[in-house]
Amino acid sequence: MNLGGEPMRKQNFFDVIIVGGGPAGLSAALVLGRACRTVLLCDSNQPRNWASKSLHGFIALDGLNPRELVRKGREQLAALGTVTFWDDEVVSGHRWQNEFEIMMKDGRTASGRKLLLATGVTDELPPIPGAVDFFGRSVFQCPYCDGWETRGKPTAIYGRGARGFTMVRALFGWTQDLVLCTDGPSGLLMRQKKILDGHGIAVREEPIECLEGQDGKLQAIRFRNGDSLPRDFLFFNLPCTQKSGLAESLGCEFTDNGGVKTGHYEATNIPGLYVAGNMIKDVHLAVVAAAEGTRAALGINKALGKENFALAE
Ligand SMILES: Cc1cc2nc3c(=O)[nH]c(=O)nc-3n(C[C@H](O)[C@H](O)[C@H](O)COP(=O)(O)OP(=O)(O)OC[C@H]3O[C@@H](n4cnc5c(N)ncnc54)[C@H](O)[C@@H]3O)c2cc1C
Repeated sequence: MNLGGEPMRKQNFFDVIIVGGGPAGLSAALVLGRACRTVLLCDSNQPRNWASKSLHGFIALDGLNPRELVRKGREQLAALGTVTFWDDEVVSGHRWQNEFEIMMKDGRTASGRKLLLATGVTDELPPIPGAVDFFGRSVFQCPYCDGWETRGKPTAIYGRGARGFTMVRALFGWTQDLVLCTDGPSGLLMRQKKILDGHGIAVREEPIECLEGQDGKLQAIRFRNGDSLPRDFLFFNLPCTQKSGLAESLGCEFTDNGGVKTGHYEATNIPGLYVAGNMIKDVHLAVVAAAEGTRAALGINKALGKENFALAE
């Protein structure tokens, strides 16, 4: 394929390499593929929302299975003919002479003029035995994603100090039937305790033994002292971390909360390197990740266009 006015290049050479095939990477690939750029999309198929059965808050797609979004997205990209898929993990990336080289876990290598990382983040789950079995079905981390489905229902919040308090405050718009479980000393300030008390929200500091329920549906929280607290849902507020070390190894600057710092059109401090999606750690929603992918793609395409035009002079 030789589109966009580019001279013939070496094997496995692309205008753009995208690492990460979630909403951010797929959206970027769509814009770039439709802009007649050759794109390599590398994905290890470990999306953040692996446990979720339905995607919410994405206009026209509300309730869609997230895997269906990826399937349909890839189908549309494949039809363009400008996008190549490598379904494997990228284990290393380097910038060399204004180009990028990547290596896959299976040993394949490729190079490109621009690199877009859309590798996402990973959630830390509450360290409660069995929590993973309920994750994405009745244990959640995002009120905007799943608050509507849990509105008015008996819900527990898992988190200590400011994390627990802010999650209670966030969820209060969806349900007031809340109990804050801190699984040990709460770490709450006196002022925060007073506010919770004023709203009738109990704080349970007892260590948690396990979650009880069936088929992913939470029924109760069992404490180590033998007490049981009936609850339909649990929302937690714990840190999430970068899924891939590529941004760090390529020299990207990070914000205080561990997101990659971005400038105009999601460009990083490394020339030619862009990022998009949850790894920016701004708004953690799929529709925003997709929009960031689109913004990055515009930035990349404009940069390529300028370079090509200058070469042709
Ligand atoms: C349980 C749950 C439910 C959610 N529900 C909603 C919801 O209802 N609505 C909503 O808007 N958001 C929801 N989210 C958030 C949503 O998952 C994210 O906003 C979205 O997935 C971010 O897209 P992304 O493209 O940035 O990252 P991801 O979707 O995480 O995609 C990143 C991709 O990059 C790949 N990757 C990472 N490193 C490499 C590497 N080195 N080489 C190759 N590939 C790599 C991964 O395998 C993955 O496929 C939910 C999250 C969770 C955990």
